[in-house]
Amino acid sequence: MRDLERAEDVVRREIERLKRRVIWVERAGDDRWRRISFLYRVGDSFGSRLFPGTFCSSRIRPSIGCTTGSCCQCRPDVFEYEKAVLDLLPKRMDSAGYCPFFNLARRTCGIYGVRPFACRIFYNLGSSAHCCQNPTDLTLQLFDSLKPHLERVLGRYQGGYDGFA
Ligand code: SF4
Ligand code: SF4
Repeated sequence: MRDLERAEDVVRREIERLKRRVIWVERAGDDRWRRISFLYRVGDSFGSRLFPGTFCSSRIRPSIGCTTGSCCQCRPDVFEYEKAVLDLLPKRMDSAGYCPFFNLARRTCGIYGVRPFACRIFYNLGSSAHCCQNPTDLTLQLFDSLKPHLERVLGRYQGGYDGFA
């Protein structure tokens, strides 16, 4: 019980820290590319600090990663800048039900280095695999609260990316 409470505390603390850093993105400088790069670094460092307290940490094996990838059975949320980047990349166009960039053979993200911000901060914050595809209220609230601030840098929110330009 104590461990669970501690994990929840870490999650809430890291979420507040992430919000503060995204809201103050102007501190990265005037240049748009610096701001974009700053946002992605902030998203990645949020993920690495949050990870030990998430359901994912019990599912992801070192050097292999998550072996199900079921959270990629989705259309990833993207902003204008991200959609423009993804439109340029090769993608699967099938009916497998996964994101067009999911590598079906390896069960991993095929564009890990340039994946959208939403993917960088998505972790299962619940207590079962159910929340891999059904985000908790905390996850949904986090993304909603960041959206207007992300739009200032990444452009308008475009919804879920389906691979069609
Ligand atoms: S959310 Fe679920 S499917 Fe996605 S990485 Fe975590 S454990 Fe794996
Ligand atoms: S971009 Fe990568 S991480 Fe995001 S949903 Fe697609 S395959 Fe998964």
